[in-house]
Amino acid sequence: RAKLDARGTFAFFEAALHAKAQSRRKIEVELRDAIQNDVLRPYYQPLIDLSSGRITGFEALVRWPHAERGMVSPAEFIPVAEETGLINPLGGLMLRRACLDAATWPDDVRVAVNLSPLQFRSGNLLSMVTDALKHSGLPPRRLELEITETLLLEKSAQVLATLHALRALGVRISMDDFGTGYSSLSYLRSFPFDKIKIDQSFVRDLGANREAQAIIRSIVSLGKGLGVTITAEGVETEAELSCLRAEGCDEGQGFLFSKARPNIEIISLLAAQRGIDAADEEDAAMVA
Ligand code: C2E
Ligand code: MG
Ligand code: MG
Ligand code: MG
Repeated sequence: RAKLDARGTFAFFEAALHAKAQSRRKIEVELRDAIQNDVLRPYYQPLIDLSSGRITGFEALVRWPHAERGMVSPAEFIPVAEETGLINPLGGLMLRRACLDAATWPDDVRVAVNLSPLQFRSGNLLSMVTDALKHSGLPPRRLELEITETLLLEKSAQVLATLHALRALGVRISMDDFGTGYSSLSYLRSFPFDKIKIDQSFVRDLGANREAQAIIRSIVSLGKGLGVTITAEGVETEAELSCLRAEGCDEGQGFLFSKARPNIEIISLLAAQRGIDAADEEDAAMVA
């Protein structure tokens, strides 16, 4: 009887594992197809300067419009893309498309693109970035590349050399999801980042939670000391925003401002901002 139970349990787990492997396999096949047929698109989420309220740039986030399942979340397919190596072509097309789109935006608006650690091992990241810039005509200073702490975990000389080469192009490097990795902070000494993005888990509950506020305060002061821009991710409420402002955080990103949107909406969003600027200038002229 005990033997039967054990076998039954085993069969159950085996079936669950099998179902999971099958669904991953299905995502892999469909994702390869989506890449080949150029179905994936970047959507853009604004980054807001917290003292002026102005848009400083947009983060490109991959979106997969799926015939049967609607918009598939990157949380579902980025891990599969990383396991299968599909993140390399995916990362390449996001980079090219984001640079092309950003080249049509005003000259003071940047674009941020996420990079997977695997892209650093591919050996062609540097030429991929150089080509995307050249092909789009986007000035390097308008491109930000977001990396995560796991990339620096191995302390690889090749990774550091690539980061330095990218920065020498004039591209900016951001540390994404700050505080969620195995941060020993020592990597902040080994590479000169331009920006640190505080993970949204620290922004959650701000205003109600003293610990969260103390953590934000110390990251902001770390940023000031290092001369690095500090951006808070996942800003959802006015309370979080006013707390971040009070702590002197430079930038914010989150649903409070906007979710990620297709490029066609970005152009009108920026036009509206220019409209507000023009009205402000007229007001100023009338006062003067
Ligand atoms: P991330 O780079 O940290 O991007 C921020 C994520 O937080 C995005 O999720 C964004 O939609 C979400 N978010 C923004 N504001 C809020 C908010 O106020 N509240 C909440 N709850 N969430 C907010 P998304 O688009 O689902 O992307 C998830 C992750 O997938 C990204 O995290 C990034 O790690 C990865 N990813 C997305 N696009 C790419 C890509 O092109 N290449 C690579 N390598 N990774 C990507
Ligand atoms: Mg990011
Ligand atoms: Mg992030
Ligand atoms: Mg995140």
